[in-house]
Amino acid sequence: MLVKRGIAVSPGIAIGPALVLGADVFRIPQRFVSVDAVDSEVDRLRVAMQAACDEIEHNEQLAREHLGEQYSGIFAAHLQLLRDPKLVGEIEGLVSNRHYSPEYASSFVLKRYARQLQNLGNKYLAERVHDLLDLERNLTRHLLGERRGELEHINQSVIVLAHNLTPSETASLNRNFVQAFATEVGGHTSHTAILAGALEIPAIVGIGAFLNEVSGGEMVIVDGNQGEVIIEPDEATLAEYREAEQEATTKRAKLRSQGVGEAITKDGVRIHISGNIEFPEEAEHCLELGADGIGLYRTEFLYMESNAERTEDEHFQAYCQVIRTMGDRPVVIRTLDLGADKVPGMMKDVFSDATNPELGLRSIRVCLADLKLFRTQLRAILRAAVEGDVRVMFPLVASLTELRQARMLLRDVVEDLEDQGIPFRRDVPVGMMVEVPAAAIRAEEFAREVDFFSIGTNDLIQYTLAADRSDPAVAKYYNTADPAILKLIRMVVTAAADARIPVTVCGQMSSDIKFVPLLIGMGLRHLSVTPQAVPVLKDLVRNMTISQAEEIATRVADFEIARDIESYLRGELKKFSPDAAV
Ligand code: PEP
Ligand code: MG
Repeated sequence: MLVKRGIAVSPGIAIGPALVLGADVFRIPQRFVSVDAVDSEVDRLRVAMQAACDEIEHNEQLAREHLGEQYSGIFAAHLQLLRDPKLVGEIEGLVSNRHYSPEYASSFVLKRYARQLQNLGNKYLAERVHDLLDLERNLTRHLLGERRGELEHINQSVIVLAHNLTPSETASLNRNFVQAFATEVGGHTSHTAILAGALEIPAIVGIGAFLNEVSGGEMVIVDGNQGEVIIEPDEATLAEYREAEQEATTKRAKLRSQGVGEAITKDGVRIHISGNIEFPEEAEHCLELGADGIGLYRTEFLYMESNAERTEDEHFQAYCQVIRTMGDRPVVIRTLDLGADKVPGMMKDVFSDATNPELGLRSIRVCLADLKLFRTQLRAILRAAVEGDVRVMFPLVASLTELRQARMLLRDVVEDLEDQGIPFRRDVPVGMMVEVPAAAIRAEEFAREVDFFSIGTNDLIQYTLAADRSDPAVAKYYNTADPAILKLIRMVVTAAADARIPVTVCGQMSSDIKFVPLLIGMGLRHLSVTPQAVPVLKDLVRNMTISQAEEIATRVADFEIARDIESYLRGELKKFSPDAAV
């Protein structure tokens, strides 16, 4: 039995035979063509390019139909690239002038672009390298006339194990047969990870090299909750997971119904459980799962799939869609958290020089450096706010000055809209993310100047423990249960209680069921989580009392080591939610 750990990007458990896809390297038969064959070779290149474009168009169509507009944008970008006259000219030029074979010329040019992108040292752009390599393989395959293992034609249950799955491959996975997938490369922000979540296929990425240890056909378990792949499990493990899988399936159907209604503890305290979204279309899903609102709308994703500046109207339309879907439920719109790993193509010049993007120009800093960008978004938020219960939230605030500057701009925008006679809501509550240690340490002062806090544990952990949240190499240092993190959360909760403002945890910590009793015991009454977690957490809340949760929080305060806290919490969880996968 072999156990491999990676980054869990889509929850769930699946068991089945492995289908192994290697790195898919094609052997290019020849480097040069004879002079008199050049014209026909250019023709062959054009035919292959057209075939590749047709295939991408087909994938775009599939993605649009099955997943929605925002995902099909990935393929639109591929198409744009493959039709780029500069790129096409470069490849054709190598065939015409240097007599390179079309296979060699296209591979040469696309790989060179990929290398250049990789050398920029920016993690988001590095993910785009996969898109270029995807194109390179596509084109080579069309030139060689080979058909790659047709993922969309899989007709039996499998677990896909691959070096990497490209966005097009992920979108074409047949959900009836592909039970889960696990890849050697990839991070949280890869398109593949985003698509896996949307498809609700259990998935793990960033495992590191492991394919040389499987040949295909072996029994495999993918535990998308824990980020574990178990190859050839022993009888006991297999039996354990089979049971868990079976129970999870039955439970999922039951849990959906548990999303309905309020989550009230056995001793009568309401816990608000909202959903986190990236795209407007996800609001519908949140509603189906019973979310009490949208606790975090990551608006920067509006910029991720496009190379164009977003207009005020585009912001406005996206926000209205979410607000209308949610009816009278609250919607927290977070202003753009661009930078670090979230850099849209058109802004790469702004960010490419950062020596350490996570500590560089990011988030509220970007907005305060580009007031036009910020103003556009704030206008759209205030205008959309007439449609429902909207709240605005600033990310990555580290100092009072930043918060005050942002609020000042908001006041300016109010005046502008008033002067222009445009309908808007002026009393939109203003909150901030607490995700930089400085903000947690000074929560008392910040609490006097905002209407609510939302604790972003994803960043709070990485900045407190100095461990990059998406770097698998330091994953073992990235400990949610570290006593330093818990201490900061307590400080924020106390400051919020003293100032009588609500506080939410919207980082992944609150989607991790074992931490929920602790968070409630620490005084949290609002959580915002990955949509799939909403019904599970509502069920948990209804099975516990506040005094039980407080007892857990008191006990945890005595522990010194993150690992001990986690195992204690796992044990405690069984008391309220014996079936929960942790
Ligand atoms: C966080 O940092 O916890 C958070 C919710 O924001 P994001 O994951 O978008 O950085
Ligand atoms: Mg954050």
